[in-house]
Amino acid sequence: MSALEVMVDYAAITRNVEVLRGRASAADVMAVVKADAYGHGLVESGRAARSGGAAWLGVAQPSEALALRASGDTGRILTWLYGPDFPVRELIIADVDLSASSPEVVGAIAATARDLGVAARVHVCVDTGLGREGVPLRELESLLDVASAAQAEGLITVVGMWSHLAWADAPGHPTIDDQATNFRTALAIAQERSLDLEVRHLANSACTLTRPDLHFDLVRPGIAIYGLPPVPDPDGRDFGLTRAMSVRSEVILVKDVPAGHGVSYGHDYVTPYPTSLGLVSAGYADGVFRSAGNRAEVSIRGRRYRIAGRVCMDQFVVDLGPVTEVRAGDTVTLIGPDGPTATEWARAIETIDYEVVCRFGALRDKERA
Ligand SMILES: *Cc1c(COP(=O)(O)O)cnc(C)c1O
Repeated sequence: MSALEVMVDYAAITRNVEVLRGRASAADVMAVVKADAYGHGLVESGRAARSGGAAWLGVAQPSEALALRASGDTGRILTWLYGPDFPVRELIIADVDLSASSPEVVGAIAATARDLGVAARVHVCVDTGLGREGVPLRELESLLDVASAAQAEGLITVVGMWSHLAWADAPGHPTIDDQATNFRTALAIAQERSLDLEVRHLANSACTLTRPDLHFDLVRPGIAIYGLPPVPDPDGRDFGLTRAMSVRSEVILVKDVPAGHGVSYGHDYVTPYPTSLGLVSAGYADGVFRSAGNRAEVSIRGRRYRIAGRVCMDQFVVDLGPVTEVRAGDTVTLIGPDGPTATEWARAIETIDYEVVCRFGALRDKERA
């Protein structure tokens, strides 16, 4: 085994997309597979999501959209994050839907479409309050002037209008309704111009699960398709989602030490009693957060152990207790059905589970993908 073995259950991703489709009965699902599918593997995750009925795949980077096409994906794909020198020609040839947050981008898409002699599909992104991507509401009219003119010439089709929420994971937060109101204002402006929108979309995972009134035509869940609930399920069932990623390592040494024995650099942990220490061969060079020292837990033979002392570059230690069955060669589950969740890791080290799966995913054994 390499230092860390990161495995992905792609059937779980398929099932999770089915669950989300059930939740969004009137809307289609765009499975968000940006950032290498949150570390789960872009192409495999995209395929799994399609099997679960995702009509759309969503990615931030144009290169990811092109990689999906190169892998043989022929469904609808939207990409939304790029600067002025984005590969617009390749994207239009690859039949990828393009987001536009400024008149300049609409202009660039239209000019390239003219060159190519095809009509490009554009989704206008509106900043309804996130303060990130999207055209400010007060500049929407000037963007639509450019878009309507290009559409009249047959260079683009404005097929979508979309926005993204700032506080969807805090159900009831007043900004959610404020943003929804702004989004409806933007849609009304599009309607006044007789833009015949195919898809209006706003909802991420949390909004998909908590605000059915804001599903519009399409929902864009990311984290939930990997099985991580974006908000606690009031019914305690994780909304029926299954976690897709597991992360494992190996105990390489077990040894007995007396009470009062310092463990790892700086002796941040000192054995409180005579005990056995287990050495695990994975460290921060392998993606194990250094901040997990003395905080996060792992599971060995079905029992939980807290990481004892500091995480080193390529190893960490657990206190196995005075009487242990654990032996060198045993499997250590950092994250998995038989151990902690990414959400528990996130809580232990004060981050979000999104960062935990992206981090471990970056270490994913590519041959297994
Ligand atoms: C990442 C992202 C999503 C998915 O968000 P989750 O919280 O993972 O469901 C949806 N839309 C946009 C624009 C995003 O950047």
